[in-house]
Amino acid sequence: MSQGTLFIVSAPSGAGKTTLVRELIESLDGIQVSVSHTTRARRRGEVNGVNYHFVETAEFEAMIARGEFFEHARVFDNYYGTSRPAVEAMLNAGQDVILEIDWQGARQVRSQMADAVSIFILPPSRDELERRLASRGTDEHATIARRMRDAVSEMSHYDEYDYLVINDDFTTALRELQSLVISRRLSLARVREAHGSLLAALLS
Ligand code: 5GP
Repeated sequence: MSQGTLFIVSAPSGAGKTTLVRELIESLDGIQVSVSHTTRARRRGEVNGVNYHFVETAEFEAMIARGEFFEHARVFDNYYGTSRPAVEAMLNAGQDVILEIDWQGARQVRSQMADAVSIFILPPSRDELERRLASRGTDEHATIARRMRDAVSEMSHYDEYDYLVINDDFTTALRELQSLVISRRLSLARVREAHGSLLAALLS
């Protein structure tokens, strides 16, 4: 069985990453999202083990000490991390895996796995980003301004990624993400691994 590909997907809050990734994995077979661990409080509607594994800080730090994270970072005052054994098991089973992580985690993954594919999702304009951030809960000016600063800080790392997808029209952005996954599956290395006997037979 051929190894799956690891996809890193990053974006500022408000770019539509979570919805795009959800639709992406629903629309294709053989691809899963890694469920991260976090110390942040659970938001309304979030389910433990589905959106995140919600853990206490002490437990998270014990996992760091035991080397259980593939990558981990502090984002907005909370810890977030990707379980190494969980990701390795999915890749070894031939599944493609998506990590929805920030730029700090993306750097750590790239340094360990050179063939990981990294994708950054951008909003279509600054005005649209501001509008999307403003529509999330409180409309307090200072809160929106802080969210914008955080978003600009995340976006400043766009040039560390292999691919950029601009989420203006949702359907177009989804098709672009699907194309990236499918084109990777057609790469020489993956096809050669998956269809070695066909290639041997064709050349015999
Ligand atoms: P949120 O708390 O809004 O779900 O996520 C906040 C930020 O943490 C987002 O930028 C998200 O990509 C990032 N994040 C979520 N899980 C992980 C993870 O496992 N590792 C890293 N490095 N960042 C993560």
